Amino acid sequence: MNAPSSRLSGFHKQSVADRVARVAELTGLNKADCELLAGTGHLDLDLANRLVENVVGTFNIPLGVATNMRIDGRDYLIPMATEESSVIAAVCNAGRRCYDNGGFTTSMSGTQMIAQVQLMEVPDPEHARIRILERREEIREICDGCDPVLVKLGGGFRDLEVRVIDSRSGPMVITHIIVDTRDAMGANAVNTMAEKLAPHIEKWTGGRHHARILSNYADRRLARARCEWRPEDIGGADVRDRIMLVSHFAEADPYRAATHNKGIMNGVSAAVLATGNDTRAVEAGAHAYACRNGRYTSLTRWEVTREGNLAGVLEMPMAVGLVGGATKAHPMAQVALKMLGVKSAEELARVFVAVGLAQNFAAVLALATEGLKGHMKLHAQNIAMMAGAKGDEIDAVARRLVELGKVRADLAETELAALRAER
Ligand code: NAD
Repeated sequence: MNAPSSRLSGFHKQSVADRVARVAELTGLNKADCELLAGTGHLDLDLANRLVENVVGTFNIPLGVATNMRIDGRDYLIPMATEESSVIAAVCNAGRRCYDNGGFTTSMSGTQMIAQVQLMEVPDPEHARIRILERREEIREICDGCDPVLVKLGGGFRDLEVRVIDSRSGPMVITHIIVDTRDAMGANAVNTMAEKLAPHIEKWTGGRHHARILSNYADRRLARARCEWRPEDIGGADVRDRIMLVSHFAEADPYRAATHNKGIMNGVSAAVLATGNDTRAVEAGAHAYACRNGRYTSLTRWEVTREGNLAGVLEMPMAVGLVGGATKAHPMAQVALKMLGVKSAEELARVFVAVGLAQNFAAVLALATEGLKGHMKLHAQNIAMMAGAKGDEIDAVARRLVELGKVRADLAETELAALRAER
């Protein structure tokens, strides 16, 4: 059978049920598949259909709670949505090992976002740059005029930067408007301002504007966490010193740093997703920041304090909000935010950065000690399920794989068959 055509005219205008029927017919989904699509769980189908386009169902992922997390003197239960095993356990483990020593301390550089306006075909870009900078107060009025609600809440235009950059299309004059978006992530808020401002910049400079869009490199919205682990809480000074070696590897080598930072984002993205925030925005910011000195490196730094404690720091952009996007619309995001009990987007960002540091501690601890054995135990359960294990078979097969020291799909099938034969 030939693959079905993906040219489905009018698909977006169809009802969800009609879309499901059409996709089922084209791709051979059976009745059970369609019933699965129809069960949307806690996310109402109408709402899902409003949040994104061409909806045919919803996609559930587990929501867990990270325990043991003490941040700035307060205990938090942190909801995390992830499909990956051992991510939540890692945060709990890291939190437990520093809880008695005070937990995490966090801070934030601010809640400012940047939007860019691209200007081309300017004969005198350096001159134009200064002319734009001279309009600062007019620019403030234009930007603040776009969002009286934000201004009333204490946010709005804060700063102006204009850069001349070289490109394959010649020089570009890039205006940055810097806006305090308070409890909103702020993408739509600053995009609206940039759109409104662009024609004015054209008029003042004689150039032509092109892209007007926020930057996800939110380096005016840096969240910072620090924490100290005492040697006795992590298995001794030897473990601490091995953690230093593992972290120095990540600092020095982009191949290692990418995985190191992926681990940090395992924690951060799971918490960001649980609250209905934009995981891709936070991830883009994180990786851009990891490259800020021209070479990709790890986002955390690890040191040994005078007292001999292992000290970790994480600093990264954290553009998240309590309003806007799916945060207010998604019912589970609202439950997650209630669980967290945060009062501001800043507090939310501070919780997330602490989760990132906790996650990284657990990862470097595992690499410095038992390798990925702990992770493999949980991974073995996934492999057992892939092989078809059900109910208590999952644990039994996973245990056998771990005992064998080989977590492999083919062996899972053999072990499952053996287990069933024994029973
Ligand atoms: P939004 O526009 O839905 O809400 C923000 C607005 O809410 C503000 O402009 C303000 O008028 C109002 N508001 C009410 N109470 C507020 C408070 N306490 N603090 C601040 N503002 C308050 O949302 P947004 O945050 O501007 O945009 C976020 C959404 O944009 C996300 O869903 C994201 O996925 C999406 N997005 C992201 C990108 C990107 O990251 N590149 C680009 C486009 C859109």
